Amino acid sequence: MSKKMSSCAFCKIVSGEKHATILYRDEQVTAFHDIYPVAPTHILIVPNRHIASVNDLRPGDEPLIGHMFTVAKQLAEQEGVHERGFRIIINTGPLGGQTVYHLHLHLIGGQRVRHPMK
Ligand code: AMP
Ligand code: ZN
Repeated sequence: MSKKMSSCAFCKIVSGEKHATILYRDEQVTAFHDIYPVAPTHILIVPNRHIASVNDLRPGDEPLIGHMFTVAKQLAEQEGVHERGFRIIINTGPLGGQTVYHLHLHLIGGQRVRHPMK
């Protein structure tokens, strides 16, 4: 898997080629506002390295995935949604509802979820 895919929207956001409202960035991950928010808080957390989906994870990626969750927790605190609760979603593949093939964690909060799972 290449480090950066020139055709990938989220690679372009990570590199700064494409605009997004960046909320957090470090050497491993970037977090930005979802362009079509489904709740008052809707943040995407992506690895800086292009990984298409959960299906493309390899042994050794565990620290990165763990870090994505720690960053999500920090952002939930920063946004003030941590106490009332929030949802983390990773859509995978066509039936999973994935539309952008650069791994991303959705952090969604600020309103009650409509369904416990779906
Ligand atoms: P998914 O359906 O899980 O692949 O989620 C893709 C998400 O990316 C959707 O919620 C889109 O609204 C969001 N999205 C697509 N393009 C952009 C963009 N350029 N900047 C921010 N969010 C985006
Ligand atoms: Zn990418």
